[in-house]
Amino acid sequence: MTIYLHDTLQRRKVVFEPLQAGRVTMYLCGPTVYNYAHIGNARPAVVFDVLAGLLRRRYEVIFARNITDVDDKINAASVETGKPIDEITARFIKAYNDDMGALGVLPPDIQPRATEHIAEMIEMIEKLVADGFAYAADGHVLFDVAAFDRYGQLSKRDVRELIAGARVEVAPYKRAPQDFVLWKPSTPELPGWTSPWGRGRPGWHIECSAMSEKHLGRTIDIHAGGQDLVFPHHENELAQSTCAHGGEVFARHWLHNGFLSMDSTKMSKSLGNVLLVHDLVKTIPGEVIRLALLSAHYRQPLDWSDDLLESSRKMLDRIYGALRNIQLVADVRESAEPASAVLAALEDDLNTPKALSELFNLVRQLNKTDETGQRMAHAATLLASAALMGIAQGDAEVWFSGNTGSDLSADNIRRLIDERNAARAAKDFAIADAKRDELQSAGIIIEDGPSGTTWRRAN
Ligand code: AMP
Ligand code: ZN
Repeated sequence: MTIYLHDTLQRRKVVFEPLQAGRVTMYLCGPTVYNYAHIGNARPAVVFDVLAGLLRRRYEVIFARNITDVDDKINAASVETGKPIDEITARFIKAYNDDMGALGVLPPDIQPRATEHIAEMIEMIEKLVADGFAYAADGHVLFDVAAFDRYGQLSKRDVRELIAGARVEVAPYKRAPQDFVLWKPSTPELPGWTSPWGRGRPGWHIECSAMSEKHLGRTIDIHAGGQDLVFPHHENELAQSTCAHGGEVFARHWLHNGFLSMDSTKMSKSLGNVLLVHDLVKTIPGEVIRLALLSAHYRQPLDWSDDLLESSRKMLDRIYGALRNIQLVADVRESAEPASAVLAALEDDLNTPKALSELFNLVRQLNKTDETGQRMAHAATLLASAALMGIAQGDAEVWFSGNTGSDLSADNIRRLIDERNAARAAKDFAIADAKRDELQSAGIIIEDGPSGTTWRRAN
């Protein structure tokens, strides 16, 4: 089967083909580590984690997700808190990895840190200067946008518009307003490294160009990130890498996720309308948040709300509810293949809404099957299919006991059920009904079946 991905550069869905048969290189722009990740920042991490997993079924995958640990926002956080930069970055790298882990995001194969690649950045900048694509001025090095005639191709921007739109006051060391910084000088109190242009630090864009080349080579198969990175970050990475590599293709496929918003406003640290993953995972199962992030197609906007979380929790209830009371033999579970309809939806530009609706077809099929062997087979297919999205892999009983969605704890529900069943056995139907009503008014429905009494949330 073929994998289709939407490529931002070509503005269309294309057949995915890696440069080398059987091997995929993928780079995702990672976090700038000066505070906690918000749920919008988690969207690319989750979406491209699903893509990496999907690709691993067919290819050897080398997936790099970097850490930007030198940046003016980090410097500002250090001034504001009085804490050393290293302490801030170490703390938020750990928090980022823990928070993404709580959402079921697997660690990438490589997590390069910008500060560990300064030599590679300097080398790339020197090459750009030597080949006439960049110039040094006043302790800065600037990329000469006019020297690269395809500049603007990724974001479909016209350089003339960029010039017209640039702020009136242009830094005196720039030849043209659209030229961007590759290197800038540092004052003694700021982080800095010795370079041919004096003590300084890199611009943000060159970090990713240097790190992706170091770990994945000159041409990468997939370059991914949020939509806001198309311009200027990815446009500039594309210009730098193409020019430093004698015109070789930098990324064969560009993938960008849409924005996550709240009340229709983009979630962003600068606007201050953020929900931190770190806080959310304290009260909401990571799996629910993960599913909420996958409920819309990754290129579409996604509006975050309590209703979205509630419907995601109910979807997991339905999946776990169908899997409940089925003991899968390890062999059956391990050898199960996902349903082809779920796989096909994901291989069609990561169509997670379609994949989820196919998953619910499997749930329905399982629920209406009585024969034990067939139920096992359906359950194994359902589990293998849900695994493609990294959901519903836990124990169904644990899911329901930790997540009653009612004021009653799982233990109290079980106690009321036992009391009701004891009353029934003693033919004390008034008490039995009273217990059932008590459960019902707390939003819990009970059902008597061949393996005893089970409960579920109402609706
Ligand atoms: P940052 O730490 O701000 O560089 O962002 C890390 C990643 O999160 C980048 O890929 C951004 O494009 C992405 N991102 C930031 N805000 C949002 C949002 N509201 N919705 C979706 N992705 C976002
Ligand atoms: Zn980047």
